[in-house]
Parts: sequence; structure tokens; C-alpha cells
Amino acid sequence: MRASCESPISYYSMSRHSNTVIPVPNQGWDERIFVFANDELVQTFIVVTQRYVMLIDTMINAATAVQLLQQAQMFLENGRQLLVINTHADYDHAWGNQVFARPAAQHPAPIIGSRLCAARLRDAETQANVTEMAAEEPHVFGDVIPTPPTVLFDEALTIEGGDLTLELFATPGHTPDHIALYIPEISTLLAADAAERPFPFARTAASLPAMRQSLARLAAYQASHVLYCHAPVTMGGQLLENNITYFDKVEQHCRVALAQERPIPAEDSDLIAAIDLPYAQAVPQDESWQTVHEFYQTTGHARQIRAMLEWLTGQMK
Ligand SMILES: [Zn+2]
Repeated sequence: MRASCESPISYYSMSRHSNTVIPVPNQGWDERIFVFANDELVQTFIVVTQRYVMLIDTMINAATAVQLLQQAQMFLENGRQLLVINTHADYDHAWGNQVFARPAAQHPAPIIGSRLCAARLRDAETQANVTEMAAEEPHVFGDVIPTPPTVLFDEALTIEGGDLTLELFATPGHTPDHIALYIPEISTLLAADAAERPFPFARTAASLPAMRQSLARLAAYQASHVLYCHAPVTMGGQLLENNITYFDKVEQHCRVALAQERPIPAEDSDLIAAIDLPYAQAVPQDESWQTVHEFYQTTGHARQIRAMLEWLTGQMK
């Protein structure tokens, strides 16, 4: 199972990390898009256009970023330049940035990201995560230097690649700095962590509505191909709909529980019982959904319910 992107520390407790980067075979998307996987943790992308080679996310450290760079370098011919893009500042997406924008960068290149992404990579929380993860897994995180993007935007940015256009736009919720990308010529959406299987996590209860708005905005594209960082690349637009339905169900059940003034238990399984929505009934019936890691069926699902209750309760005040 590909890990869902929640927070560095709970990720960490679920799996160890490696520097392995492997190409994911094309499963029907445009041949100018290349997908790479860092083990079961994350998928990132390279998009080759006439003008630019765009490396979208730099994975977890310099070692993984250099492997992506080597893949990109094959296409750096005919005057093409390298552009690096960060979808957001989480460790599995931006901790390889130092390869592209430090004084001793191996391959200096512009790194494009949201202004909030740059702020997150400069903040104390990121530094604390680096320190903690470097202590636990020095062979993976020991030389990570948080490196912010160097070309910043707020809401939207368009990159004219010649044959392909990349439209970058803010999709906050999972994290406040998150962006997604749309390529109109090939009706392809790179949703990054805005959708995940079984569900994306909003980092705070207050950002739950923004995350659901971002899901709706992405679904409205009705894209022919949708590629994700933490879901099988074959899931297409259906995953966006599945995530939307999940949060709608959680909201509906939480509203009923609040209206009936049911007690809200603290313990995960009691909470799930109190709103009468077991994980199995909140997601599609396919085996792949029903057999996700136990964490998502209990703790993760309960965390979503708690966030929804907190948001709804705040609305009622
Ligand atoms: Zn992620």
C-alpha cells in the first residue's frame, strides 16, 4: 500500500525510508509525463515540453533528488532548461530541493512554489522535523538542508512550455501551501496530495472546508487523466469523487449525531460507533479500499470525524 500523506512523524512510525527511486511504467497517460516512485512512500513527476523539462517535486533528500535529476538530464537537449516545481513543503515532496538551489547545488535551477511553501520550508517546524528524522534515520535524512523554492506565486502561475502549458494553482487544505497542476492540451491533472486513497488529511480542522473546496475544484476539470502522489496512478478522476463522497458522508453523519446531542466519546472505536459510520461503509466496497492499512480504518477515520465535529461545532457557535 502506498502511504497516505499525513504528517512526517506518523508517516515515520508507519514505515522506514529508503533512497530507492524507480520509474513507474506508463499506464496510458501522455508520453511526455514520467512518473517515479520512492518505494511505497510517494510518486513524483517529470514533464518534458519543447522549452522546459519540469521536475515536479524533489522527494525526500539529495540522494533521491539526484536520481530524478539524472532522469531529467536525458531530456536536457535542444536548448531545453530544467525547471523544478514543489507541490508543497512536506518532506516527501521538497526535501531534495538542495540539489537545485544551494550555493553548492549540483544543478542550479529555478524552483517554483507557492509563497506559503517557501515560508514553510523556512519555519521552525520544518527544521524540527529534519532534526528529529535525521536522528532516527541518519542514512536517509542526515544531510537534508531545508531549501525554499526561489520563484514564488500566490494563486496561479502559467508556464508556457511550447507544446504543453502547465497551469499551477493553489489547492489549499491538505496543507495551506499546496498547489496542483493542469495541462489543458492533454486534459491531464496532477493532483499531488489534494486527493489520496483512502482520504487526504487536512492539517487542521479549520482547513477542512478548504480541502473539500479544492477537491471540488479539481473534480470540475473532468480531466481525462489524473495523477496522484499517494494513490495508484490508474485511479483517474474517480478518486476525486470518492474523496468528495467520503467527506460528504462523514459530514452528514456528524450533523445527525450533533443534532441528536449524542455524547462524543474520546476513544476511536467508540467515536466511530457514535456517529454510526464505520470506515467500511464510508468508502467504496472494492477490496482495495477495504484492505487499506488498519491505521486508516480506525485512527485515521476517527481523526477525520473529530475534525469534522470540531469544524461543525465551530460553525454552530
Ligand atoms: Zn505527500
